[in-house]
Amino acid sequence: MPELKPVIGLEIHVQLNTQSKLFCSCPTEAAEPNSACCEVCLGMPGSKPVLNKKAVEMALKVALALNCKVNEEFYFSRKTYFYPDMAKNFQITQYEIPIAVNGEVKLKGGKSIRIKRVHLEEDPAALVHEAGISQSNYCLIDYNRSGIPLIEIVTEPDLESPEEAREFLDSLLNLLRYLEVFVLGKNVLKADTNISIKGFERVEVKNVTGFKAVETALKSEIERQKGLINEGKKPVRETRAFDEVIGRTKSLRTKETEEDYGYIFEPDLPMIEIPKKELEEARKKLPELPEQKIKRLMKEKGLSEYDARVLSSSFELGKLFDEVSKKVDAKLAARFLSRELLAILNYNNKSLQDIENPERKITELLKLLQEQKIMEKAAKETMIKIVLENSEPLQVAGKMGWLAKMSEQELEKICDKVISENSKAVQDFKKGEQKALNFLLGQAARAAKGRAEPRLVKKIIEEKLKK
Ligand code: ZN
Ligand code: MN
Repeated sequence: MPELKPVIGLEIHVQLNTQSKLFCSCPTEAAEPNSACCEVCLGMPGSKPVLNKKAVEMALKVALALNCKVNEEFYFSRKTYFYPDMAKNFQITQYEIPIAVNGEVKLKGGKSIRIKRVHLEEDPAALVHEAGISQSNYCLIDYNRSGIPLIEIVTEPDLESPEEAREFLDSLLNLLRYLEVFVLGKNVLKADTNISIKGFERVEVKNVTGFKAVETALKSEIERQKGLINEGKKPVRETRAFDEVIGRTKSLRTKETEEDYGYIFEPDLPMIEIPKKELEEARKKLPELPEQKIKRLMKEKGLSEYDARVLSSSFELGKLFDEVSKKVDAKLAARFLSRELLAILNYNNKSLQDIENPERKITELLKLLQEQKIMEKAAKETMIKIVLENSEPLQVAGKMGWLAKMSEQELEKICDKVISENSKAVQDFKKGEQKALNFLLGQAARAAKGRAEPRLVKKIIEEKLKK
């Protein structure tokens, strides 16, 4: 039997980080269900949509960053379907002429994944199945989500494994964070996946939320299709849903075609035009993107390609590196962030956002290491405590006795200074006040920032006071 090769295409829906919805001024964030809706996002008769300019600008940035051809003129269409999550019985989306087509994303190994199209559309409402009522015959609807701006990014079927799909999604999401159109933990990403075994019908698995779920859904669906083929059966063309709890897909319906939605031109919105000049302006205003950052870090900071890639593969990590490397040696910072910090975060299932003031703390720690006041191993241990307990680096290292002790010479200098600056305490001590000595010892310890051996300080100060 010939090898069974998976063929995968993705349709990714990304929520754009705008303040207001795509066709009305309702906020995109609200605490109470059904509190952020108006006649437009509820589809009431006579209401008219008004396009959110910010959402178009964000979509344009994405299209340019994906190296797409942007259509100078595009328009919106109505995709008709009946479902409780869509109050007006159609979704305003783009079909015939989307905002952009024909882009690509390069994977680490150099393979190019073609982007077929990028379009703007509104999110439907959320159907809420409350815990405990799943057995009952109703569900709740929250229209706050209705009208939230999404961009849909459709790939060609260029992906050949679940791992490759995961890598593609990772780099896509990183790109969206560089563009600052998507905020991790706040905005949502969902994927519809098209999966087939080469030479057989394709199956669509809809509405998979999150990256890990996409990888798992693809894996289990490929297994299912291979299983059928090995039994001499054929996968049928259908739409399936992914059940995250059991980690398997189940049949929803045999697949309708796009034509079944009866798209028509949206008459309430004008044709949108993006003049060449505006497009060029937008292109110039694009921020530094991962590939450019990799080159800059290699050239300006002298990093290896490996380190530059790792640091640029996460927007947040790259930003942290930029700041830390202003104050400590870039190669030291690169090595520590791309190896130690990432390993600690991954091992403990934590993310950078879990650390308070990461920039200041890591800079402090790396300065100690750079000035050889702390050993490498102790610095790593301190890093773990910064990540897990949000500790202060100086406190941890001091308390654990990890800071290199000062030499007697260095301590003498500090003690001389303390004695000359505290003549009153010195006189009090000479009059027999023991408390004054404790005060001087405390001052010396503070000046030594935890790097002084207390007994040695006492010996030095007592000797100096005898003179
Ligand atoms: Zn509204
Ligand atoms: Mn869509």
